[in-house]
Amino acid sequence: MTRVAGVGARACVRARARARGGGEARRGTNSRMFAAASSGRANDAVFVAHGAVETSRALADACGGAVKLIERAEALARTNASASLEAARALAEHAEVASGGDANISTRAREIELEHGRRVILDAYYAETARAARRQRNRSAAKPKKRARDRACRKPKARQGWTRPEMRERNARTCVGCEKIEAKDAMFRIVRCSVTLDNGKQTTTVKYGADADGACGRSAYVCKTRCCVARATKNKSINRALRCSVDKDAYDALAKAAAVIEDDAGVDTSGLTFVRPEGTAARWSAPGVWL
Ligand SMILES: [Zn+2]
Repeated sequence: MTRVAGVGARACVRARARARGGGEARRGTNSRMFAAASSGRANDAVFVAHGAVETSRALADACGGAVKLIERAEALARTNASASLEAARALAEHAEVASGGDANISTRAREIELEHGRRVILDAYYAETARAARRQRNRSAAKPKKRARDRACRKPKARQGWTRPEMRERNARTCVGCEKIEAKDAMFRIVRCSVTLDNGKQTTTVKYGADADGACGRSAYVCKTRCCVARATKNKSINRALRCSVDKDAYDALAKAAAVIEDDAGVDTSGLTFVRPEGTAARWSAPGVWL
């Protein structure tokens, strides 16, 4: 920022002062200017400029001429460091003044000045971007590295090995007995329907078996096995799933239907016990197992 501010006339004065030998000389110039202004001299600028021209000429003489001086400035500018460019710019200025307005030297000095200006702008830009990057880094460092919520969201949901499109296509439902996800048509369906009575009152009935086909309402599903129906009966899982009371008749009918199906297949699952796999907290990750 200081460099940007220094592009103007003040920087020229400072550079010349540096060439003359530091702060002493600068203070000298200022006091001379002040003296000139206070004594009412007509053109103090000319007085100061006269001193600057002398310095420039002395510098040029020391280097062996204004051309040599500008060559030196160009060599310095070619090193391409910010500090060298600033020095090169000051030298070029002196060369220009010492040459007395030579067109060639003026053009070369102008080139160096332009290069210096470009560098000043670039430096300011890089400093600003670095500051922004630092600010950004500090801000992200303050943020906790892992947010539990994010991890939970990104993890694919456990669906007992089913993919989402598969579940939609095959109408996957969960058994209230063993919590296994299965296609809808492979299970018994129990439906809670609302019925309007003759006196205009509404009541709920539970439909199952053939009655349930095409019936609308909240549904529960059970595997077509004795064990699942028995566990659902014991736990009153259908009551819970339908959020209403379910008659014993419904459970008995389901048990009977399951027995018929199992007898046809020649299996009997009534003696099996329900085991939840080790380490599966959620029913989504794995169903219970009948052993
Ligand atoms: Zn089941």
